[in-house]
Amino acid sequence: MTTPLRDLTTIGVGGSPARMVDATTRGELIAALNEAWASDDDWFVLGGGSNLLVADEPFEGTVIRILTTGFSLVDGAPEGFQRVAVEAGQNWDELVAWSVDAGLAGIEAMSGIPGTAGAAPIQNVGAYGQEIVQTLVSVDLIDEATGELTTVPASELGLGPRTSVLKRHYGSAPERSAVVAGLALDLRVVGTDPRPVTDERIRGALGLDGARSAGEDGSGNASLRWIRDTVREIRASKGMVLDPADADTRSAGSFFNNPIVSEQVARTLPAECPRWPIEPEDDAAQVFDLETWDGVVAPPREPSRFVKVSAAWLIEHAGLAKGFGLPGSRATLSTKHTLAITNRGGARTEEIAALARFVRTRVAAEYGIELNPEPVFIGVDL
Ligand SMILES: Cc1cc2nc3c(=O)[nH]c(=O)nc-3n(C[C@H](O)[C@H](O)[C@H](O)COP(=O)(O)OP(=O)(O)OC[C@H]3O[C@@H](n4cnc5c(N)ncnc54)[C@H](O)[C@@H]3O)c2cc1C
Repeated sequence: MTTPLRDLTTIGVGGSPARMVDATTRGELIAALNEAWASDDDWFVLGGGSNLLVADEPFEGTVIRILTTGFSLVDGAPEGFQRVAVEAGQNWDELVAWSVDAGLAGIEAMSGIPGTAGAAPIQNVGAYGQEIVQTLVSVDLIDEATGELTTVPASELGLGPRTSVLKRHYGSAPERSAVVAGLALDLRVVGTDPRPVTDERIRGALGLDGARSAGEDGSGNASLRWIRDTVREIRASKGMVLDPADADTRSAGSFFNNPIVSEQVARTLPAECPRWPIEPEDDAAQVFDLETWDGVVAPPREPSRFVKVSAAWLIEHAGLAKGFGLPGSRATLSTKHTLAITNRGGARTEEIAALARFVRTRVAAEYGIELNPEPVFIGVDL
């Protein structure tokens, strides 16, 4: 009998897999993957289980737990940076804590995100103004197509808002079926003293232009440690750091992505709905076939404009308050944050899914916008 996934996922649901393999070295990981790929069995790798929703029924396949840990300084970083090579199973927050103590900047605002370092590129984790795409140099990937380990630059991973080519989005296979065995980050050497925080996104997220404008030392400066502590304090107030004593943290983090809609759709929403414009991508150059070209150059097209809107606001204004649950269900929205669906104790996956369906239907009925889930679903349909 294998360990049920409800004991290995932060939302605390999921049946037992037919097979479970613990990989404590890269060699064991490569061997386990190749064995699974050689069979026709279904498979997936498990890190910290903090971005997963797994069905109640037994998983008829192999789950490979990535338990490789550790990190070290390696050569190759540009001047002013340190390169850190990290094993996939390394606990993410322990890595962040170490970087803060070492005076290395780049991941401090991502303090408190649960799970493993190897899973961080899968959805380009981000929080409070930082995303891993800003520091990630490369990943060591084991591709299903070849079974081999290669080093792949971050630029080939299609990292975007909560996405990459490696992510198994709801209802789809990943663009590239591969497993991260390790990763390399370039972190800036800044030391441990308070200093001016120049990144506007971090300033905004931490209130350095508002409620916390005095910063750490009264003059608006902040050390990496202050940023880490402040982020963890804000996250705890929203139930977004794991705490066994707080049922609001028994979740898979944000359950829905902030939807990205056209400017026209965004204009139909009330002005108070928080929104963030997405920079338009440069339009591809127009290419003409000289054999057939009639000499007319069409005027340049206006780039399409998109806007990210707040899923939490849409949920709350569709009438679903913090703590909302369906009658008799053990799943509710977090009492601190409408974007998280929580297991209040003993919930089954189906109770989580039923609430997620209800939220989606309400938001679609009220605003005509479809919310898409952020966690990876295994055997679950909405
Ligand atoms: C309370 C809470 C707060 C959260 N806050 C944030 C946040 O602020 N920002 C954010 O971005 N996320 C957040 N999350 C989501 C989650 O913590 C991250 O996505 C995290 O990176 C998942 O890591 P994991 O090891 O737990 O992955 P798992 O849940 O174990 O796996 C998630 C997916 O990645 C795959 N995977 C795991 N490891 C690998 C690997 N080495 N190679 C290939 N595929 C792999 C799995 O197969 C699965 O498909 C939060 C979650 C919780 C519970």
